[in-house]
Amino acid sequence: MMAGRPPRLAEWLLRRLLPPGVRGESILGDLVEDWRDAGETTAASLTYWRHALSLAARYALRRERPHPLDSVHRSERMFLDNFRADLRYAIRSYANNALLQPSPGRANEVSRAASPEPKDGDIHTFKVRDNVFMLVGDGANIVVQAGDQGAFVIDTGAGKLTDKIVAAIQRLTPKPIQFIANTSFHADHVGGNARMAEAGADLSLPGSFFANVGGSLGAVTGLITRVGENATMIAHNNVMVRLQGANAPAASIPSDTFLEDRRRKFYNGESVEMFYMPNAVTDGDSIVHFRRADVIVAGDLFTTTQYPFIDVKNGGTVQGLIRALNDILKRTVFEHEEDGGTLVIPGHGYVSNEHEVLEYRDMVVIVRDRVQAMLNGGATLAQVKAARLTADYDTRYGVNSGQWTTEMFVEAVYQTLKPAAAPAAPAKPAPAQRK
Ligand SMILES: [Zn+2]
Repeated sequence: MMAGRPPRLAEWLLRRLLPPGVRGESILGDLVEDWRDAGETTAASLTYWRHALSLAARYALRRERPHPLDSVHRSERMFLDNFRADLRYAIRSYANNALLQPSPGRANEVSRAASPEPKDGDIHTFKVRDNVFMLVGDGANIVVQAGDQGAFVIDTGAGKLTDKIVAAIQRLTPKPIQFIANTSFHADHVGGNARMAEAGADLSLPGSFFANVGGSLGAVTGLITRVGENATMIAHNNVMVRLQGANAPAASIPSDTFLEDRRRKFYNGESVEMFYMPNAVTDGDSIVHFRRADVIVAGDLFTTTQYPFIDVKNGGTVQGLIRALNDILKRTVFEHEEDGGTLVIPGHGYVSNEHEVLEYRDMVVIVRDRVQAMLNGGATLAQVKAARLTADYDTRYGVNSGQWTTEMFVEAVYQTLKPAAAPAAPAKPAPAQRK
């Protein structure tokens, strides 16, 4: 069935620039395969050219000037693998014309991207930029800003390796962990809260107004008697509400909560801003922007390892997620043809830049539009699932088993777009308010 070939000159260019041997051949093979999948049209040829040039340029630059993160968390190999995966889904969605053809009957494929998660029972520390570090190995990524004042920690992982995490943080600064902020109340982000707070101390509190209030209240209520002896835990108020609702131990629940859409601190000589992102993955998501290092901690609003975990039961919506991703993109700056500019640390996966957040946002928007189009045509959830609307992204993000599968993602998108059912009967008059 195969007829023509992709543009010869583009192929020649790729052969000159791709790594020699099996890897180069497999990259080329993938692109040719995508070109054939796209139906060998003029659009496919143009896209092939675009990707050939882009891939060649980025690969050549990479050889000239390795990025500092290449040697560690984001190996050159992983960079190329993921970049290639991005190209694959870009070319496929382009060829499918974004909104278009459902692919019923197409197999559920799973992600072929390299897993950035070391599963060796150890905590791995990577310098991201300036005094911002990423700790990997216990659930969600943990971010630490360390300096003369102490440590400001974002998220605490699943809680299985907390002692190792605390030890790793102590290697970054001799001062205590003063602040812990949570981007979410999900267990893989707050699991180490209690023990990490216990290991820390907020030295700004003893002798302060809060200590006096805590002391006198504590005498009466038995609460807050140890002001300053632990790290201060910060999060949006809904994190506290959700954790309380789940009967989480009190010692793991952030008490320094905020209701407004921004929380600010100046710490270790750097402006640190926390922004609340309503109804995105949950109703308690925040991002954290370290402004001097220009690093954004995105939490699960952005991951490089799976489709977004839109937790509908806990207030997540696809529209809110897209708003949040757009908000992140409003804060990022890119360095042309390079990996400088704002770095974005995902909840799970490798350190990314604006380009990668943009691709992710586009993926969410395209899937949203496809589901919406079927909804507008009156499709049921079963029909939407059967249409396999994510088929062209599954080799990048697809997961068929475990906690969060492709089908669950599609269902979450459907649920949050579906118009609320009209009430079947007129509402009964509200019962009298009880005091
Ligand atoms: Zn997570």
